[in-house]
Amino acid sequence: MEFHLSNISTSQPAVSEHVKVLILGSGPAGLSAALYAARADLNPVVLTGMELGGQVSVTYAVENYPGFPEGVGGPQLVELFQKQAERFGARVEFDTATEVDLSQRPFRVRTYNTEYLADTLIISTGASSIHLNVPGETELTGRGVSYCATCDGWFFKDKDVIVVGGGDSALEEGIFLTRYAKSVTIVHRRDEFRAGAILQNRAKENSKIKFLLNSVIEGIKGEQAVKAVQVKNVNNGETTEVPTDGVFIFIGHNPNTALFKGQLELDELGYIVADKRMHTGVPGVFAAGEVADPVFRQVITSAGMGAAAAMQAIHFLEEQESIVETSATA
Ligand code: NAP
Repeated sequence: MEFHLSNISTSQPAVSEHVKVLILGSGPAGLSAALYAARADLNPVVLTGMELGGQVSVTYAVENYPGFPEGVGGPQLVELFQKQAERFGARVEFDTATEVDLSQRPFRVRTYNTEYLADTLIISTGASSIHLNVPGETELTGRGVSYCATCDGWFFKDKDVIVVGGGDSALEEGIFLTRYAKSVTIVHRRDEFRAGAILQNRAKENSKIKFLLNSVIEGIKGEQAVKAVQVKNVNNGETTEVPTDGVFIFIGHNPNTALFKGQLELDELGYIVADKRMHTGVPGVFAAGEVADPVFRQVITSAGMGAAAAMQAIHFLEEQESIVETSATA
């Protein structure tokens, strides 16, 4: 059976588990939070979400996480994060939260398999790729349209591919795709890149990479597979059809916060509003990583936010315990 939200029964699941710290999401923020909470003997449970490791798990190489002078593979880094958290007692569950109730403590979190009652909740659900929303994109996803070079690059051996975007992701993944593709054309809507200078230089020096600047994709064509893209020059309005075998889209991300709408404050872009101590507006609920960070969005900053959120959760639980003890002795 495929999992759809409609498959989930609204009745109470047979299994309900009480945990002190529940962590939603298994990217750098979630797994760092797990490490810190586990080292405080709180036996945190991490729900992986749909993708263990989040976005970093589909990143070919991470070169700016300290401690790895030669760089480290994204999936390898996730595995190391997970192992380190598990060593101290964290439990990683391949499950996804489908409903949350933050109106009272313990917080209720329904998943595909169970229900958790959590004394504290750390939300690190990350962000997902933004789509171009042009004709052909949805229909041809998985048939030449992709949002993950690490996952799909291999299928484009000796083919011509297009990469959309002008940020670090587009350039980094475009460079990665030259391992397989015959040519990589980076289509960017401006003539200046948002990406850092090092990546820009590497891309410009790569003989397989071409650039189509001041250009936007208006449609993706093909029946069973991608055959071409419709490209409009934003300066003169001219439209041309560019033949290609694949379209890789790297134009940013949206925070995964749909589950919390109406229960937590979100900003105008949908990110969770948290203070500098990672507290959301609900005591006992903390947010860390890209779900609450539209600015830095790095592995290291997300990991730092995860650690900070766990330290605050530990502090919160200690405070609650001392309140209980004080009222018991009063
Ligand atoms: P990003 O920095 O937000 O860049 C998105 C790019 O897509 C921009 O160039 C933007 O154009 C373009 N774009 C946005 N909407 C578009 C649309 N509808 N049509 C066409 N183009 C569109 O996103 P990112 O590259 O995914 O990077 C996200 C964060 O992760 C950044 O902080 C980045 O530094 C970080 N990151 C770092 C590394 C690294 O350090 N190695 C690698 C990957 C990502 P404009 O420039 O015109 O707005």
